[in-house]
Amino acid sequence: MWKKLTIVFAAFVLIAFAANSQTKLSPKWEELTAADFRDAIAQSKGVCVLPFGILEKHGPHLPLGTDLLNVRYAALHAAEQEYAVVFPEYLFGQIFEAKHEPGTVSYSRVLQLNLLQETTDEMARNGCKKIFIVNGHGGNESLIPYFAQSQLEKPHDYVVYSIIGERNRAGGPAKKSTGIDYHAGENETSNTLVTHPDLVHLDRAKQESGADQARVKLPEDVYTGIWWYARFPDHYSGDGSVASKELGQWHIDAWIASIVEALRAIKADDTSLKLQNDFYEKSRRPLDTKQ
Ligand SMILES: [Zn+2]
Repeated sequence: MWKKLTIVFAAFVLIAFAANSQTKLSPKWEELTAADFRDAIAQSKGVCVLPFGILEKHGPHLPLGTDLLNVRYAALHAAEQEYAVVFPEYLFGQIFEAKHEPGTVSYSRVLQLNLLQETTDEMARNGCKKIFIVNGHGGNESLIPYFAQSQLEKPHDYVVYSIIGERNRAGGPAKKSTGIDYHAGENETSNTLVTHPDLVHLDRAKQESGADQARVKLPEDVYTGIWWYARFPDHYSGDGSVASKELGQWHIDAWIASIVEALRAIKADDTSLKLQNDFYEKSRRPLDTKQ
């Protein structure tokens, strides 16, 4: 009797395992077959992630693709917890301010916007009706909200979402550096020690200074495009030499958690698209919509 039961149980486990391995889909768009892609869109409830990186200098010690590598690490780990289809490597953002550094790839303003629009249009045509842009690059922080705002220009059958705000959370292991830490400094170097430790050259981090050179004197609320070059002309802000894996793990865990939380909220959101459609309809005939 027991033997029989054991055999039945083993068979059950095997069938369950086989069924599970059939339904376990990669979150990576490029790894799915066409048929699996259809299942993936259903499983993700039409939520697709567009991790947005860049190619630019990161101090003397981090790889050019740091932002792309880190944002993909965070997005793919988040998609393991809350399934979503993740778009392949995307790095066509705003990086004019690093054009004087080797290895920077900087597309024109028009192409940045057109390529992003055509990319999200194509994603939506393939069923991604909720597109979540996860940004890994500080230079995109104006571009992405502007892109999201410009979705109201004309009708789209999908919604663009993104997270706005600081990627590094306060607290956690004590920081060793005390100054400004915007780019390739202690925070970002620590993050990269977690995501791609083999690409971090800590021994080179002191070869250049990441100090604020403050070469333009203007009130804090007066903005110019040259502000970054005025302050950090070597594309280094902070001190990467004191980075630690512990601090990086703290930031990366928080980043992944914030993406997971956003993914769940985006999946549950059935209001934004309705309101968008309502808006498009009313904006076609503004004089009819108000008494
Ligand atoms: Zn970066």
